[in-house]
Amino acid sequence: MPTLEGDLVFPDRTEKGRVGWSGDLLSSIGTNLINGPGQGEIILWDGFIAPGFLDIHVHGGDGADFMDGTAQAFQTVCRAHARHGTTRLLATSTVAPSDQIDRFLEICDSLLDAPTGGARIAGAHFYGPYFAPAAKGCHPGEGLGDPAHLKPGRFLDHRCVRTATVAPELPGTADFLVECKKRGIVGCLGHSHATFSQVADAVALGARHVDHLFCAMSDRARLRQSQTYPMRGGLLEATLAIDELTTEVIADDRHLADELLYLAYKVKGPDRLALVTDSMRAMDMPDGEYWFGKDGMGEAIRKADGVGLTLDGKGLASAVQGLDVGMRAMKRASRAPLHEIIRMLTLTPARIAGLADRFGSLQVGKAADLVLLDRQLQVRGLVVAGEWVIKP
Ligand SMILES: [Zn+2]
Repeated sequence: MPTLEGDLVFPDRTEKGRVGWSGDLLSSIGTNLINGPGQGEIILWDGFIAPGFLDIHVHGGDGADFMDGTAQAFQTVCRAHARHGTTRLLATSTVAPSDQIDRFLEICDSLLDAPTGGARIAGAHFYGPYFAPAAKGCHPGEGLGDPAHLKPGRFLDHRCVRTATVAPELPGTADFLVECKKRGIVGCLGHSHATFSQVADAVALGARHVDHLFCAMSDRARLRQSQTYPMRGGLLEATLAIDELTTEVIADDRHLADELLYLAYKVKGPDRLALVTDSMRAMDMPDGEYWFGKDGMGEAIRKADGVGLTLDGKGLASAVQGLDVGMRAMKRASRAPLHEIIRMLTLTPARIAGLADRFGSLQVGKAADLVLLDRQLQVRGLVVAGEWVIKP
């Protein structure tokens, strides 16, 4: 039974202690170092030992995208994100023709919880094709549709699907959210120009999460273009106001200025806000042009200055950083205690995805997924399902 000793990061505190595992599960946790657990070899770590990060919104990395349609591409992405502290992730689809989405979901089903040499697939985030065309962002236009016409049943029946996104102003949203709920899938709202009241209606039907706060969503200023008064709130204001809604931020140090990260943290708090990468295949790759979505068939974007941009340079187009960057950016922007920052990378996303019984905190019986951080919060070690992926 391997045992690690260091500053353990729990959901509510950081405390010196030991954590041990046997097989792929945590088997002992103790903070009494004199009589605490740990036989045989105890590895001393002069830094923090946190639960592995869980990314609920991620498209690719190291040259591969989950939409490429091969198990090898999945493995490449999973290995890339492990270098940044991620131990579990929800593979996230893009807008694409139905056959590409079918292929994505089939691979996802087959790789669920399987070893990849890096992070493991904890499920799928079914993302697109139900986006509002005007809010589609950098997603390919081909394949866009609404749930009234492009029936969701064929997608939602896959066992891997944990979360599923819809723009709530689209026809068929009510049925879509009911179908999600029936299957235990978390209904998400995103890529939308909905009004506050449309969002409130979707929440009444079961929607519980909002994709990348501040990005590809309506707000007071945008809605004013179609109605002079009264000024109305959009998806942004509804997300901040409605307690039933959890959300996430792309904390890549590029998308959002520190004041917006701080605002999200202050209003939603660490139990309702997750950090995500929303990274695409250009993560850990040199600057240049890349496909967002399936290789050669998605949308062309450019990686420059640590972010994805549209080819004209005027729009943001996905991110290219790991969750470790998000952790440090949020620490700086929010000045929150470390255990709250870590919670936004672990237990909170696990809860959002309905996976907190298995992942997200240092607790006996949960997965032996650990990240070792130095005092500057750099990733120095990683254990996934009891196996060392990065040895310090
Ligand atoms: Zn998006």
